[in-house]
Amino acid sequence: MQRTKVKDLLQGAEVDKEVLLKGWVRTKRGNKFVNFIAVNDGSTINNLQVVADAEKFSEETLKDVTTGAAIAVTGTLVASQGKGQAYEVQASSIEVLGKADPETYPLQKKAHSLEFLREIAHLRFRTNTFGAVFRVRNAMAFAVHKFFNENGFVYVHTPIITASDAEGAGEMFQVTTMDLNNPPRTEDGNINFEEDFFGRSTNLTVSGQMEGEVAAMALSDIYTFGPTFRAENSNTTRHLAEFWMIEPEMAFYDLKMNADLAEEFIKYIIRYALENNREDIEFLAQRQAEEDKSKPQNERQEMTLIEKLEFVVNNDFERITYTEAIDILLNSNHYKKKKFQFDVKWGVDLQSEHERYLVEKHFKKPVIVMDYPKDIKSFYMRQNDDGKTVAAMDILAPGIGEIVGGSQREERMDILIERMKAVGINPDDMWWFLDTRRFGGCPHAGFGLGFERMVQFVTGMGNIRDVIPFPRTPQNAEF
Ligand code: ATP
Ligand code: MN
Repeated sequence: MQRTKVKDLLQGAEVDKEVLLKGWVRTKRGNKFVNFIAVNDGSTINNLQVVADAEKFSEETLKDVTTGAAIAVTGTLVASQGKGQAYEVQASSIEVLGKADPETYPLQKKAHSLEFLREIAHLRFRTNTFGAVFRVRNAMAFAVHKFFNENGFVYVHTPIITASDAEGAGEMFQVTTMDLNNPPRTEDGNINFEEDFFGRSTNLTVSGQMEGEVAAMALSDIYTFGPTFRAENSNTTRHLAEFWMIEPEMAFYDLKMNADLAEEFIKYIIRYALENNREDIEFLAQRQAEEDKSKPQNERQEMTLIEKLEFVVNNDFERITYTEAIDILLNSNHYKKKKFQFDVKWGVDLQSEHERYLVEKHFKKPVIVMDYPKDIKSFYMRQNDDGKTVAAMDILAPGIGEIVGGSQREERMDILIERMKAVGINPDDMWWFLDTRRFGGCPHAGFGLGFERMVQFVTGMGNIRDVIPFPRTPQNAEF
């Protein structure tokens, strides 16, 4: 007999027929006459109630049906007489496929803290919260590919091991097969990377952009979606050492087209999740509302999670320049009352507190900040005619801060080389990148969206460690 998933059973597939279901016991309760077993198989946030009559099942048979155990049940799917579910299964047989000792199984009925669940990340998939988060994450990943596919973009797999360190100086993880206790050395005592696996020093990628640019110079519109690594020692709720980034790169796009695409893309993903994972998001919204109750008034959300997502989908993002952003900050009461920890003046990078002020207090919606001072942005961003700023754009989201970083790229060879030299990059090392300017270069633009930050935004999870199955952060790579 073929197994039916709980999601389908709850939608009334095969009513009054014999069905086979398999899953994990969430709870078991009962009395002298009947036992109720809540079973979940991950296909939906909802459990299916299995009714096991005491006259059919002895205490002996049911003793191993405990929270966490894997079971297979055959029975009849019937309309439920109880409250809370439309259908239930009247069991005719129950087989315990895998026991879970109640004395040692860590996930008991009571609610566990997210911190505790991080320590048992291998089991947290089995909670309502993480089931919902990872189903939503899955839907969003699918929506990423769907969006780009519908818009004629080519998915390009850029390398994970890279020899270029132009972008990430100091923040990269080294890749080597050398014996660290006894590395080969040159005559002057330095480590001899010529003897390493690739014959040169290599790292894990911090961005697929450069390879993406190369591909866009032939395929027009491309995107990458892959793991990205940063050895930055940022112990924040928004940084991981290993995260997933989506990086579209488009030939013949300017900064405005780039910003428009990013806005359309973000809205598309949110809409897709709202339409396809409504129950999960409703559950997460309730979870967030509960969590909010324990927070001081001024830290609570003004909108529910669903209201916030619908608001973002239905309203235009605000567009301002960096210079306007600085003016807004300088004129704010917050600044006048000296409530910002970091200095505000033209030329400094916006700190997270500034970004959050703009988004959460001033505009109360996502904001696209454009035209940053060139000295705080990467060398490859296109210089504006004022000589001071570059065609960069960051998208800032409520509760998260920066979610997208992008720019129109510098396509003019001489200016690009001049900028490289100014920041200490040897143009010869970047010969293949420069070839895209040398041969048939054209205006182009792109951006990087941190997938986990986007998942945080949609699920309302406050800590980025709770939206990736096995987070990698400083001092932490268990599992
Ligand atoms: P931040 O200032 O927040 O550290 P960044 O300027 O270093 O971000 P970019 O280099 O522009 O970020 O990377 C593009 C996007 O990747 C960011 O907008 C963000 O969404 C995401 N991102 C960057 N660093 C991390 C990280 N350590 N963990 C998770 N996501 C990240
Ligand atoms: Mn960073």
